[in-house]
Amino acid sequence: MTTNVDDGAGARALDDAAAREVRRRLEEEQRSRAAQLAVLEKAVEQTPLEQVEASDYTRMDNLRHSLAEIDDALRRLEEGTYGRCEGCGQTIPAGRLEILPYVRYCVRCQGRGTR
Ligand SMILES: [Zn+2]
Repeated sequence: MTTNVDDGAGARALDDAAAREVRRRLEEEQRSRAAQLAVLEKAVEQTPLEQVEASDYTRMDNLRHSLAEIDDALRRLEEGTYGRCEGCGQTIPAGRLEILPYVRYCVRCQGRGTR
């Protein structure tokens, strides 16, 4: 994918085709995580409380967290702010977004511990 994005102020980080592709990927992730969460919730519900593993709660938490992040990424996509680092305002490189489609920060800001 060659998306040469200029870093001009106020410029959208993605063109329409790229935005559609990102939306498709995010929605796919959303579906698969929502399905995993539903399965896990159901399993936990049917398990006596003292037998539920702490790791099950951790996994559910992680899934809920991802789902919230995906929701937010979809909102940013809608607003045209998607792909822009929330720390420094720079465009996040397309390669990073490809690996982590709902990431909020560039590598530098993430490394700084901005969360
Ligand atoms: Zn940044």
